[in-house]
Amino acid sequence: MSKASIRTVSCPTCQQSVEWSEKSDHRPFCSARCKLIDFGEWATEKHNIQGDPLHPSDEDDPELLQ
Ligand SMILES: [Zn+2]
Repeated sequence: MSKASIRTVSCPTCQQSVEWSEKSDHRPFCSARCKLIDFGEWATEKHNIQGDPLHPSDEDDPELLQ
């Protein structure tokens, strides 16, 4: 078991480990810079949501082909 009680998270911008404590004013970001970068990307809509394409709805009824 680890004795470490310090929780860390990954900075969403640069993936750096960030200590999750009151010392880290910008958590979950490692710094104000990363926070602004992330915010800026959202503001400029660079975050494209690329979900899986939906299954094409083939509604053909096989019984009609008989
Ligand atoms: Zn960062």
